[in-house]
Amino acid sequence: MAEGIQPIFILPEGYTRTSGKDAQRNNIAAAKAIANTVKSTLGPRGMDKMLVDNIGDITITNDGVTVLKSMEVENPAAKMIVEVAKTQEEEVGDGTTTAVIIAGELLKSAETLLDQGIHSTLVARGYRLAVNEAQRILEKLGIKLDINKKEDLSKIVKTATIGKSTGADEHIISLIVDAIRHVKSVSGENKNVDLDDIKIDKKVGGGLGDSKLIKGVIIDKEKVHPDMPDTVKSAKIALLNMALEIEKTNIDAQIRIEKPEQLSAFLDEEERMLKAMTDKVKKSGANVLICQKGIDDTAQHFLAKAGILSFRRVSENDMKKIGKATGAKIISTLDELDGESLGMAGVVRVEKLAGETLAFIEECKNPKAVTILVRGGTEHVVDEVQRAIDDSLGDLRSVIEDDGAVVAGGGSCEMEVSKQLRDFAKKLEGREQLAVNAFADSLEIVVKTLAENAGLDPIDILVDLRAAHQKGRVWAGVNLSDVYKPGVSDMDKEGVIEPLRTKKQAIKSAGEVAIMILRIDDIIAAGKSSNPQPQMPGGMGGGYE
Ligand code: ADP
Ligand code: MG
Repeated sequence: MAEGIQPIFILPEGYTRTSGKDAQRNNIAAAKAIANTVKSTLGPRGMDKMLVDNIGDITITNDGVTVLKSMEVENPAAKMIVEVAKTQEEEVGDGTTTAVIIAGELLKSAETLLDQGIHSTLVARGYRLAVNEAQRILEKLGIKLDINKKEDLSKIVKTATIGKSTGADEHIISLIVDAIRHVKSVSGENKNVDLDDIKIDKKVGGGLGDSKLIKGVIIDKEKVHPDMPDTVKSAKIALLNMALEIEKTNIDAQIRIEKPEQLSAFLDEEERMLKAMTDKVKKSGANVLICQKGIDDTAQHFLAKAGILSFRRVSENDMKKIGKATGAKIISTLDELDGESLGMAGVVRVEKLAGETLAFIEECKNPKAVTILVRGGTEHVVDEVQRAIDDSLGDLRSVIEDDGAVVAGGGSCEMEVSKQLRDFAKKLEGREQLAVNAFADSLEIVVKTLAENAGLDPIDILVDLRAAHQKGRVWAGVNLSDVYKPGVSDMDKEGVIEPLRTKKQAIKSAGEVAIMILRIDDIIAAGKSSNPQPQMPGGMGGGYE
C-alpha cells in the first residue's frame, strides 16, 4: 500500500465481503451443488440415500427434503435452496426434489447468460415473466379427476409412492386412499382436509401387509389395573382431563392425629371421597375411562371392581383425537359427566404388539380421526413408509381441495410448459426472450433426470419428447412404470397423475429462489462467533464444499 494512504474500514473486524461476479458465481455454484446431491433420488427409478448423523443413527430415504434437512448446510445461498424444499413440503407435501432440481438448473442456465454478458437484473426480470406465465399455462393445462372415485385417487398415491421403498404397494395405497376418503366424507360440504385427523402410528415388526387402517385411535398406554378387562365391546368412553386423586394442599398443613381411630377415620374419609368419584364415572354409564391426569391407586381398585377399563396420563393430543374419533366430550369436572358426554367405539382393547402394550380404540362409527398403523421389518422401513404416506396424503389433500385438478407426470407437464414458454418468448424483445427461453430449457431437467436415473439416454428421450410436444401430444413424457419397457408415452393414459398444486408450487418456488439469488451481488458475512470449534488442519472445515 502506498505510503500516506490510510485504508478505510467500513466493516468491523472479522467480517468478510464478497462482491460482484464472485458473489454471484459462489452462490450459483452452491445452489448447483445442492441440486446435485438430491438429483439421483428423483422419480420411480431414483436411488436412496443413507444418512448417518453425528451419533451414528441411520436414515435411509428417497425423500429430497429429508436428505437436505439432515445436511447441515452452511453456505447461505445453499440454505436458501434448502428452504425451497421445506416450503414445498409445508405447502403441498410433495415435489420437493423437483423444486430443488429446477432451482439448480435455473441458476445453471442463468450462469450461461451471465457469461454472454447479459446483466443479472435482466435475467431476473425474464425469469419473473416466465414464472408468471408458467402459472397461467399450468392453470390452463390442468385436467380433472373424480375425487369421489377410489381408482382415481389411487393413481395419485401410486405416482407418489412408486419410487419409495413401498414400491407402490397395493395394500398401502388402498389404506392411504381409504383414510383420506374417510376424513373427507366426514367433513361433508367443507372441502378443507385437515391432515391432523389422520394419525400415523409406526410399530416395527410384521410386514407391510400387516399395516392397517384403524377407524379410531391407538394410544401407547396400558390399563391401570390388572383386574380390568382387556376388551370392552360397545364401549362407552369417558374423557376426563382432571385427576382422580385427592388434591394435596400446596400449603403445608398439619393434621394432628392422636388416636389410632382418628387415623383410620381420616383414611376412611379419603377412601370415601375416591369411591364417590368413581361412582360418578360408573353412574354416567361409562365402561371405559380415559384420563389425561393421574388415577389414585384406591380409585384404580374401585374402577377395576366396577369393570371399567381405565387409562391414565394420556396426552392432550391423544385426548383430542379420541374425542374426534368417538364423539366424546372432554370433561373437566365429574359433575358434568353424563351419558351425553360419552363417546362410542365398537371396541376398546389392549394388545401387546412388538413388545409394547397398546390400547386400540377402534371400530368407531363415524370417526373424524383415523389412524394408519404402519408395520414393517425394521425401523428404517417403517420410517420411510411413513414419509411416503406423508407425501401421498399431501398430494391427496391438494387434489381434493382443488376439486380434482391434476396434471400428468413423467416430466410431461414440465415439457409442455417448456414448449409453451418458448412460444410466449417469441413475443418478447431480444434479451428478455433469451431469459425466458433459458427458463424453458431449465424445465427439461425433470425429464432428463428421470431418464438418466432409469439408465436411459437423456438426450434421446428429450429429442423424442420435444418432437411429440411439437405435434401436440400434451402429455407425452417418459414412462417408467414398467421396468422392462421404459420409454416415451402419453402419461395421462398411463395413469401417472400428480396434483396441479404441487407442480405450480414447485415451479414457482424454484423460480423465486433463483431470482432472489441472481439479484445478490454482495455478500457481507459476520465472522464466526468464537465458539471453540475444532479447526481442521490445512484450512478445511469451512467454506463451500
Ligand atoms: P419429488 O420429491 O419431486 O416428489 P419423486 O422422487 O417423488 O420426487 O419423483 C417425482 C417424479 O417422478 C415426478 O416428476 C413424477 O411425475 C415422476 N413419476 C412418478 N411415477 C412415474 C412413472 N410411472 N413414470 C415416470 N415418471 C414418474
Ligand atoms: Mg414425490
